[in-house]
Amino acid sequence: MAEIRVNQDDCLGCEACVAACPFGAIRMEAGLAVIDLDSCNFCGACVGECPYEAILLEKEEKRPEQAGAPARGVWVFGEQREAEFATVVYELLGEGRKLADTLGDPLAVVAIGRDLEEKVGVLFEHGADIVYLADHPQLADFRDDPYTQVFVELVASYRPEVCLFGATSTGRSLAPRIAARLRTGLTADCTGLDILKEERLLVQTRPAFGGNIMATIYCRHGKPQMATVRPRVMKKAEPQPGRTGELVRHTVDPSRMVFRTRVLEFVREDVETVNLEDADIIVSGGRGLGDPKNFKYVSDLAKAMGAAVGASRAAVDAGWIPYSHQVGQTGKTVSPKVYVACGISGAIQHLAGMSSSDIIVAINKDPDAPIFKICTYGVVGDLFQVLPALSEAVKQARKG
Ligand SMILES: Cc1cc2nc3c(=O)[nH]c(=O)nc-3n(C[C@H](O)[C@H](O)[C@H](O)COP(=O)(O)OP(=O)(O)OC[C@H]3O[C@@H](n4cnc5c(N)ncnc54)[C@H](O)[C@@H]3O)c2cc1C
Repeated sequence: MAEIRVNQDDCLGCEACVAACPFGAIRMEAGLAVIDLDSCNFCGACVGECPYEAILLEKEEKRPEQAGAPARGVWVFGEQREAEFATVVYELLGEGRKLADTLGDPLAVVAIGRDLEEKVGVLFEHGADIVYLADHPQLADFRDDPYTQVFVELVASYRPEVCLFGATSTGRSLAPRIAARLRTGLTADCTGLDILKEERLLVQTRPAFGGNIMATIYCRHGKPQMATVRPRVMKKAEPQPGRTGELVRHTVDPSRMVFRTRVLEFVREDVETVNLEDADIIVSGGRGLGDPKNFKYVSDLAKAMGAAVGASRAAVDAGWIPYSHQVGQTGKTVSPKVYVACGISGAIQHLAGMSSSDIIVAINKDPDAPIFKICTYGVVGDLFQVLPALSEAVKQARKG
């Protein structure tokens, strides 16, 4: 049993608890907070938010799924920007469909944003059975606080068993907040997912210890089971034109939300050259370039091949190229048709982000560089000779 109460001597009526409660269980009466025990989930979100420590909670651990019907359904967070869903959403739908079918449950997308209603058809066509839509002008841009609030409200109402997020900067920011509010676990950066059917457990696989071992993680004692999944690791769902599903509109009440941040402007980075995750060909440079100005050898080859430019962390850490170009464990995971590694040794953390590329070409002057162990084609040589010659050859071949 749990007990919660407001110590009226300490409550100063600041309303922080009202905004913090995901279940709308707190209201103000005569300037003091009052908790509706029928609606309260005893999650404790208000306790931490009260600056005056006026809310007292005594409980045995109680989680949302214990409060009612058993948790069911696989959910995908429908990350979007300017009403366009991120590529990773389609990848999660592909994987989520398999998980939902194994569990015998529906697959749903949580779409939060503005002017999304006419876009949700594409989610059904990619395998969603249900779309939970929270559409409101104040949700146009991703912000942690209101998005967390909406997602938690939906979880409280519909009780999913599994929630998947892209391990993008948005997903990595949002998912931990939701997990903390729901008092459940979260496995970050998964590269594989499966279901242990009898126990209805999500099998979450991710690299650990610098990619040297693969860890398998279960969340046995919390629901929903939550994971972020690296973009470009799962296969995109195949679209089925004309497929439809159930649209559930969620009523958004901004008065229950906290808006601690404002989006001033969205500045697109040089998309043509940086859009690594969607590129079919990537030419990457590493410390072997020796100097930032030598990235022009990499850019020249990339331009000739119609490729995006990537980099190792050593090159990024040296300040030669922005982080958005970094490939690897702490950068982007890519899986292009062709990956050309120039002056990159092939450290395990770099390989973690590119080893699933179809064709890997390595250019390195050290014949013992580890990159040669995984490459499809290797050139042992000085990149300052090889790259200009290769760029020229590609240009000639293209002309022909
Ligand atoms: C927790 C953690 C996370 C990390 N995450 C990442 C990550 O996301 N991405 C990443 O890349 N790294 C990451 N690293 C760093 C990683 O361990 C390596 O230090 C890094 O990848 C090395 O980059 P590099 O290959 O460019 O440099 P080096 O290892 O120094 O290799 C340079 C290579 O260039 C070759 N070379 C030199 N001159 C020439 C020339 N003239 N012509 C041809 N070849 C030449 C050399 O033979 C050498 O093989 C991480 C490390 C840790 C601990």
